[in-house]
Amino acid sequence: MFAQFALHERLLKAVAELKFIEPTPVQLTAIPPALEGRDLQVTAQTGSGKTAAFVLPLLNRLLGDGASQARSDVRSLILLPTRELAQQTLKEVERFSQFTFIKSGLITGGEDFKVQAALLRKCPDVLIATPGRLLEHLNAGHLKLNQVEVLVLDEADRMLDMGFAEDVKRLADECAQRQQTMLFSATNGGSGLREMVASVLREPLHLQINRVSELNEGTRQQVITADDNAHKERLVEWLLANETYQKAIIFTNTRAQADRLYGHLVASQHKVFILHGDKDHKERKQAIERMKQGGAKILVATDVAARGLDVEGLDLVINFDLPRSGDEYVHRIGRTGRAGAEGLAISLICHGDWNLMSSIERYLKQRFERRNIQGLKAHYQGPKKLKASGKAAGVKKKKTDKKDGKKTASKAPARRKPSADKAKSSGPSLVGNTDGTAPLKRRKPAAPAAE
Ligand code: AMP
Repeated sequence: MFAQFALHERLLKAVAELKFIEPTPVQLTAIPPALEGRDLQVTAQTGSGKTAAFVLPLLNRLLGDGASQARSDVRSLILLPTRELAQQTLKEVERFSQFTFIKSGLITGGEDFKVQAALLRKCPDVLIATPGRLLEHLNAGHLKLNQVEVLVLDEADRMLDMGFAEDVKRLADECAQRQQTMLFSATNGGSGLREMVASVLREPLHLQINRVSELNEGTRQQVITADDNAHKERLVEWLLANETYQKAIIFTNTRAQADRLYGHLVASQHKVFILHGDKDHKERKQAIERMKQGGAKILVATDVAARGLDVEGLDLVINFDLPRSGDEYVHRIGRTGRAGAEGLAISLICHGDWNLMSSIERYLKQRFERRNIQGLKAHYQGPKKLKASGKAAGVKKKKTDKKDGKKTASKAPARRKPSADKAKSSGPSLVGNTDGTAPLKRRKPAAPAAE
């Protein structure tokens, strides 16, 4: 119950209006110390309810000081990496502050600079911004941040990935009088994040909410093997035609692949949208709006483009390409099963993806359900032998002959050509199901699955 928190009654009224009944784990853990004014470093995933975890205490502080009195200062600043996330956060702030006099404003790239300057003259109580554009306004003398009381850095790891480290630090320095800083990130990041934590937070409480192993309880995770990209396209088509879902997102690792898949799906009469870094702001906005309103059910996207996307009813994620790391996998899959809803995540993997898949399983401490689709079963069904780690065993790396640059086989015994044993090559690996839904079984107790 949200009433357990010492929140202003107007905020509790908004929470009730939004039909938030039970606080999520990140809200349970972060709201009390945030209300006490502590600096926080919170590691929590997209979809965990982290926005409310910082917005409610932030609004509470502003209300405590009599927000009805006209103030001519920006009193709180939320910095985040992308426009889409900024827009979603603005909505969340507006929803929670609907019974108060608190005003919020949005400053992101891709919007009219003069209109934004006019907005800044009104000094919104809560300013939500991406760092690059906000800094331009600061340099142009359009705003002062010296009265900011609370600073929030949301998806800080992502801001660092996108090269915003210096901008964020500069903006944080401008908020010299701040009383509280809260930093949220989906991962524990690397040295860049540690540096930022050290330079921006004061004696922070570190809350590690969602350990990766506890993620996405509402999302089933499956893998389907494929022989090549054309095969993957057929699998995607089958899944889109046969799975039950409200909305689906298909991830590729490159823009070119996103374009190819998009073209393929459009050609086969699917109503589909595409999001990637080459698309301009208008196209991105349009694609996201259509998805939200339900005009389109299917989105093809690359990782960066889909960052922070929060589309209700997104219950199917297909990894056309396997993400390159466990963290990236968590980011993608975090889009389904949000706030307790159910979801399905399917990764399509070719021969070269097996070991990466297996490391992602180990990272998540989960084993993905193996699945085959009748009529579309791949010749490739996983390595013949697995190591205890779940990775392929017995395949030694090929050495490159420096003289002629050709790859030469190592001393490992020559392997049979794949074609010779494709049909019966399940070996110790995976045995297909027949109805296309049940998980696969191992033929003999092979190496222990990734724990
Ligand atoms: P977030 O992780 O902040 O992006 O939140 C993910 C989604 O969950 C958003 O659509 C929120 O509005 C929703 N949400 C957050 N907290 C709760 C809650 N306690 N009960 C129901 N929905 C929630």
